[in-house]
Order: sequence, then C-alpha cells, then structure tokens
Amino acid sequence: MNAVGIAKQHPNLFLLSVSNFSCTIDAFTHSMLASEMGSKPYLVLEIDAHTADAGVQTRLEAFLDIIHNYREVQTIGAYPFTRCRVVPGGRVIRSNGESVPLTDPRVKVYFPNFSPYHTRTLALAVGWLGLHPGALVPLDRTQLEKGLQHTSGRECLPLPICIGQLLQIHEHRQPGEIAGFYMLQGGAPCVSDAYMGYFERFLTEQRLTDLFLFNPQQDNDFLGFDKYALAQHLSPAIILADILVEIDHVLRVVGHQGALDQLRDEWERFAQGARSLDEFNAALPAFVERLAHLPRTKDPHTCPRVVVAGDFFTRFSSFFMDGVRDLYAERGIILKPVDLSELFLYIAYHPMAETAGTWGMKPGGLALAKACTRIFQPEGKEYIQHWMGYQTLKHEEERYRGLFHETGLLVAGPNAVSSIFERGAEHVSPAIYGELLPTVGKGLEAAHEGYDGMLVIGPFNCLPYRISEAILKPLSIQQGMPILTYESDGYAVSPSVLRQVDVHIQQVLEHAARNHVTQG
Ligand code: SF4
Repeated sequence: MNAVGIAKQHPNLFLLSVSNFSCTIDAFTHSMLASEMGSKPYLVLEIDAHTADAGVQTRLEAFLDIIHNYREVQTIGAYPFTRCRVVPGGRVIRSNGESVPLTDPRVKVYFPNFSPYHTRTLALAVGWLGLHPGALVPLDRTQLEKGLQHTSGRECLPLPICIGQLLQIHEHRQPGEIAGFYMLQGGAPCVSDAYMGYFERFLTEQRLTDLFLFNPQQDNDFLGFDKYALAQHLSPAIILADILVEIDHVLRVVGHQGALDQLRDEWERFAQGARSLDEFNAALPAFVERLAHLPRTKDPHTCPRVVVAGDFFTRFSSFFMDGVRDLYAERGIILKPVDLSELFLYIAYHPMAETAGTWGMKPGGLALAKACTRIFQPEGKEYIQHWMGYQTLKHEEERYRGLFHETGLLVAGPNAVSSIFERGAEHVSPAIYGELLPTVGKGLEAAHEGYDGMLVIGPFNCLPYRISEAILKPLSIQQGMPILTYESDGYAVSPSVLRQVDVHIQQVLEHAARNHVTQG
C-alpha cells in the first residue's frame, strides 16, 4: 500500500503489481487497489507455473496503451457520497448527516448468519441491550451467488456470503430503516482484518445509503455501552447457542421421531418470552426441564462422537457440507461442532499468554501473582483485566453447561482452553492470532477428550484452515485418530468427497468399537 500512496502522488507514475496464482491475501490487496487507484490505470500480473513470456508481454503492451489513452483523457470525478457510520456515544451518522441514537427504532441491527442458533441468540441479546434486531436472514445459496457477482471469487468464502447477506438486508429493509451489519475484525494470517475495510469500500462504491457496519470496540466507545455490560449480555447468548447446536446434533442421532421439531418449538417459545436477561435467566430452569423430557431412543453417551473443528463460519451449519451430517447421524455418530465460546475464551486467554510469556511464565497462579506486584504498571493492570474477563466467561460457561447437563443431552464439557492453547502452541507460534492455534490444539486434544474422530471443515481459500489441515493430518494419523478435512466452496459435496466420508465413518465406528463404546 506504500507503493499505491507513491503512485497516487505522482501523475506520471503508474502501478504494476505482481502476484502469485490464487493468493488469498492479494485478493484483498487487489480489491483495495481498485478503490484506492480510482480511475488511474494499474496492472496486476498474476503468475503461475505455466505463465508464458508472450502473454506477459502482451499485457504490458496493453497496459502502456491504456496509460497513453488515460493521459490524453482526464476522467471526471463522481458525485460525492457519504457513508453511514457509527460514531462514539452510541450514535450513527446517516448518509444525509443526521445523527441518530443506535437505540432509535428506525435503526435495525443484523448479524451475518453462519448458524441459525447463534444468529437468533445474538439478536435476542442486542434486544436486551435496548437495540432493535432486524429480521433474521436465513443462510442460502442465492446470497453466495449474489456475493460472487461483486467479488473476485478468490477471497475466502465468508466474504461473498456476507456481501450477499448485506445486499439482501438492503433490498428487504423497510422504508426509512437504517440498517447496521456486524462485521468482525481479526488478525494475521486470517484476512478477517481486511473485511471491515473491504465492506466500507463496498458500501461507498455501491452508494448504499443508511447502511452501516458495527463492531463494539474502544474507538467507537463500545457503541455507547459499558464493555462489561456488553460481555454480560452477549456471553450467555453465545454459550446458549453452542449448547443448542450440541443438543440439536445429539437429537439427530438419539431423538425419537419429532424430537428435533419439539426442540425447535420449545426454543422458539422460550426465546419469545425472554425479553430481558433477567427473564432469560429466570425461565431457563423450566426450559431445561422441558428439554429433559424430549423423547429419545438411547443414551447419547453410548454413541461414537466426532469433533467438528475449523473456521467458525463453516463448522455450525449443514449448509457447508450439504447432506454429509445426516450420513454420520444415520450411522449413529454424533457430530460436535467446537463451541464459539471456545474462540472467545481463546481471545481472552491469548493476551494473558503473551504477557506471561514476556515474564518467562505461562498464565496461572504465578503469573497472576506477578501481575499483582505490577498492578500500577500497564502490563500488570491489563493482565488482571484479561484474567477477570477470562474467568468470568469460564464461570458463565460452567454455570450454563451445568444447568443444561440436566437435559441428559450434552456430550461435551466446558472448554479447556488453557490445555488446548498449550497443545496448539507446540506446533503454531502463539504470536499468530486467530483460529489456527485453537483448531490445531483442539485436534490434538480430541483423543484425550474421548472423541472417536475429527472433521476439520474450512471455507474455500482460508489460509488458517489450510495450515491447520497440513499440521493436523499427519499428526492425527500418527495418533490413530480418524480425520477428514474438507474445504467448502458453499456448493454441493462431490461424489469423491462422499466416498471419503464413507471411509471416515467406517474408521470412526472401528475406533469407537476399539474404545468399547456400546452401540445401542
Ligand atoms: S479464518 Fe479463514 S475464512 Fe475466516 S476470515 Fe480468516 S482467512 Fe477468511
């Protein structure tokens, strides 16, 4: 981007970018080039092992012609457009300049839909905070198709899907509605760090008025909320969604006919009655009681289990491995997607591990004691803040899991993030932030946690997924843990992958038989 800045300063300097075939990071860089360079011509040369000199020469000659023409014809700038945006103090500035509180009934907020349960519980939680959730947008293939019309196809899969969902929200919003779309921000080697910028440019280029992006963080004053109040409202929503996903998968295997529909009816009834966090907590015991009575054919603890790891966007919904989850259920195998709360625990644990590392320690009692001796220094203070956030989330998870344990439909315990982190750190530098390290750690802990197999599913063109696949495959084979990896492009699963699924199912059943799992 430094080169872009220099090329923009000098009217007679033009940009030539050289890239490798199918480089995901360059897919994002190139989308920035388009918007940064505006009408000024630039050339991207994407090179692979088969690129011939003649082709490159032709493109360079064409580029020089374009530069020549450009210098003769000056383009006229487009009319100005102001993007709607969140500002500190819990307000949003509309495209016409009007400042509106986020709690205004005209403002509706939406979350990307990667899992129906998570999207629904997050909508509930923002309602408890006084915001107004928009109607849920079910995940479907038309969103992917629409998104692909606006992207290069080389970005990782969540991007076109989110673009498609954003456009669908825009098309279906009520007259006068100001719509906010949640967009996450991550870190290398994951390109989610570039998502926010990509979406901001997209909104500007498409001139989409009164559509804004949000992500509660320091620079927007946490959307005007106290950050602890935000965590207090959002964490139960995330933990409950994880639990409901787990129960849903369990009932696919052990539920009597109609049990899954009953779960969904009970959940919807419960969600409609939970208009505040207090009402939610008060109604939980009765909800758990009703789930405990859902009819089942056998005890889920007698069934083989396969952990589903990989990017959170793809591991929850059957959309990303169409029909495959039913194949496991038909053979009596319970799939258990790794909880989203594990990612949040990791996010709280990561900075503690980083700080403790600078003291030559691991997070734990000694590091906490050290932080207490440095309470008046930024590192000590921050360590204690992260420790409190981590402990609160852990405690919440244990509390809700303990409650739902009574349903007899849970097959996993609370997330042991510290041991997952330690195992992952044996193969991935802890300095690399994102889902890579927890995915590798979870994979290596799978046998210890009693799983009979592992399914690693990642979005098309996801670099962390490809690295975790490369690390986990040989290690799992060494450990005798049946593993199947799958990179989803959002379309139907090919017959060759279905054959691999068959083999994996057989390996899982054999693993379970060796480990004395009783088949009911
Ligand atoms: S984890 Fe993978 S799919 Fe998700 S944003 Fe990062 S690179 Fe893209």
